[in-house]
Amino acid sequence: MRDFARDHSALALNTATLGHNVDGHGAGWSTERVIDACAERGFGAITYWRREIGARAVAIGERTRSAGLVVSGLCRSPFLVGPLAPPRQAMLDDFHASIDMAADLQAACLTICVGGVVEGTHSMVESLKQVAEIIAGVAPYAAMAGVKLALEPLHPVYGGNRSCLVTLRDAVDLCETIGHPTVAIAVDVYHVWWDLTLGAELKRAGASRLAGYHLCDWLADTSDVLLDRGMMGDGVADLKGLRRAIEEVGYNGHCEVEVFSANNWWKRDPNEVLDICVERFRTVC
Ligand code: ZN
Repeated sequence: MRDFARDHSALALNTATLGHNVDGHGAGWSTERVIDACAERGFGAITYWRREIGARAVAIGERTRSAGLVVSGLCRSPFLVGPLAPPRQAMLDDFHASIDMAADLQAACLTICVGGVVEGTHSMVESLKQVAEIIAGVAPYAAMAGVKLALEPLHPVYGGNRSCLVTLRDAVDLCETIGHPTVAIAVDVYHVWWDLTLGAELKRAGASRLAGYHLCDWLADTSDVLLDRGMMGDGVADLKGLRRAIEEVGYNGHCEVEVFSANNWWKRDPNEVLDICVERFRTVC
């Protein structure tokens, strides 16, 4: 296992940790200020949300790299299916736009949140089938743009509206069904910490299909499954065990702190939040 106590250059910030992904939240720091604050603390990378980037993708990518960091990812595709997905053509247009933005940023990957069960089907199988068809259709465009698509299985609690993809097992199956090398997987502690098959499924995925590892914690007394994630060390997830499992199969990429926390971390001074991210990364991850 890598020794993060001595070297935290693998640490990445997902800017959602500062509340930047939801209107009305966060301290309102400019992207430049976030980049500088991360660089000062020795972060290795930043993952952005599309709403922060606007028409400045090329400039923000260059600014990030000139500060000595890389762009570890871009959040995210539109929901592809289910009740929150835009109408088909609008969804495809937006999916392509998200790929273009990731390419302009030179982001290591674009996160894909597939969307919930297709209305009227009452079927995870049918919903995943439609997801596979959509991604298979878009994958060649992403590959031409040099963008890796990172499918993120979400916790089953989101199955209804946000993601009919709820286990690493199904994500590996989806990759195999699509069969395109630009389609990979993002593993997020929040969504998979409970899964006793994780080690076996990580082995089945293999390092080449692992495009990201996201860190936070699951609070034992969580009050909101969307906006009450814990900081690493404050919850019940076996963070070192999870990292050992993903590194055992060869993952050596960035580890991205992604804490959605409307009533706690998003209310704090970002300087404090970033300092604590570094400290927890070095001690409990
Ligand atoms: Zn995530």
